[in-house]
Amino acid sequence: MSGLPTASELERLACDAAERCGVTLSAPLGIASIRSPINGSPFGSISGAEVVDIDTAVERARRAIEEWRLVPAPLRGALVRRLGDLLSEHKSEIATFISLEAGKITSEALGEVQEMIDICDFAVGLSRQLYGRTMSSERPGHRLMETWHPLGVVGVITSFNFPAAVWSWNTAIALVCGDCVIWKPSELAPITAHACAALLERAIAEVGAPRYVSQVVLGGADAGQELVDHPGVALISATGSTNMGRAVGPRVAARFGRSLLELGGNNASIVASSANLDLALRGIVFGAAGTAGQRCTTLRRAIVHESVVETLVERLAATYGRLVVGNPLQPGTLVGPLIHEAAFTTMSNAMGAAQEQGGSLVVGGERLLHDEAPDAYYVRPAIVRMASQTEIVRKETFAPLLYVLSYSDFDEAIQIHNDVPQGLSSSIFTSDQAEAERFMSADGSDCGLINVNIGTSGAEIGGAFGGEKETGGGRESGSDAWRSYMRRATNTVNFSGELPLAQGVEFTV
Ligand code: NAD
Repeated sequence: MSGLPTASELERLACDAAERCGVTLSAPLGIASIRSPINGSPFGSISGAEVVDIDTAVERARRAIEEWRLVPAPLRGALVRRLGDLLSEHKSEIATFISLEAGKITSEALGEVQEMIDICDFAVGLSRQLYGRTMSSERPGHRLMETWHPLGVVGVITSFNFPAAVWSWNTAIALVCGDCVIWKPSELAPITAHACAALLERAIAEVGAPRYVSQVVLGGADAGQELVDHPGVALISATGSTNMGRAVGPRVAARFGRSLLELGGNNASIVASSANLDLALRGIVFGAAGTAGQRCTTLRRAIVHESVVETLVERLAATYGRLVVGNPLQPGTLVGPLIHEAAFTTMSNAMGAAQEQGGSLVVGGERLLHDEAPDAYYVRPAIVRMASQTEIVRKETFAPLLYVLSYSDFDEAIQIHNDVPQGLSSSIFTSDQAEAERFMSADGSDCGLINVNIGTSGAEIGGAFGGEKETGGGRESGSDAWRSYMRRATNTVNFSGELPLAQGVEFTV
């Protein structure tokens, strides 16, 4: 394990990346200092952005939308195309900000920006494919069809662990749909947000789109709540913990707004007796230890057939022992820091609770590098074997803590799999096609994402992303998730010269 960078080294990295992106990071803008989980110390502050309150932002967005909604969708796509180009040009700079603020290893930070470029590509194509249906009318000389219109102002609230990609999933789609976006990023990653917004602002100026189709408001839960309660915001797309969703969902519903909730997961992989254990091992290690266990799709439970559980646990323990934990900016590191002290405390408490509930620690859980950086929280990813799915296993612990459970028959595996409150991502490793099909069928996994022979984390943008139960039910990104960002109008056109009523109703005066 190598030394961690000093605060001034991180600051230099941030300033260089900022300069290359055209973002100013000198005097503070309502944020005294921004902490990096890499060494736990402050490394920067923001200037050059205007501080706006939510009322002003919504008012500006409402004015912008009057123009933007009338721009033909394929022309709106030109803005998103330019954003994608700028993201490609500044891929490494945005990745640097992501690493500095979220602690991601460079490869995963670059992957996050690649996902942003991919969703821009997708949205540009989509801008020519916002299709409505034509239905057969029951009345002669009538046409029945649907058209899709922009919804209005979209409020996007994002979590720290995908500080840029979640914004782009929403924004690229919302913009081609003709909406205006107000982004409330995680308070833990304001510089990443500021840099992404600066690139979009440049794209807006270059293509001549209305200035306020996209805005950022910085702040914590209070700012998020104000956005949530604002009657001028048609859709709230909120990504974060289930606790956050529990607060947000009812408030949006109370004003009859629309919400798209992307909340916590408690994802599992079933490893069947016929599984290719080499594949399973790699899928499990990336799923559980990658991103330091801080993805919504992180693997939290491995449900392993009793005939292979001993071998697999042994191989996992050996592999976990070789994981390089440390400076995420250094090549070769696989596991970066936890976001903050609270995350480490939550992980330690969960490990304690698991052991009280009958679990036995296989490997990991110890804090690393604390002598060098007392305010940074590096931890060796942990595995705990559980005899049953106890209360603690049913909770999402947002850290690299994997529970291993075993099963004897496939029905039992599915029952354990689904017996948690969350429903985001799931996977099965098997060579038995019937098992794989059953897992994807109506009485198989109850999650929004169901994978075969790959792990739970690392989804592509082409599919709709999201999950059921306490994960919130929202879907964003690919497939037909765009429909959440538009309003549907059903049109009936009568060209018959008569006025026949539907269902044969007679009403002649
Ligand atoms: P968090 O809930 O602490 O914060 C997320 C965002 O919500 C932040 O911007 C925060 O300021 C805001 N917020 C918090 N309370 C709010 C309130 N009452 N009203 C309005 N806004 C509020 O989550 P986090 O720690 O940043 O992220 C980790 C969590 O996010 C995990 O549970 C993870 O599973 C989840 N997550 C889910 C997805 C998904 O797509 N399902 C993706 C990424 C992360």
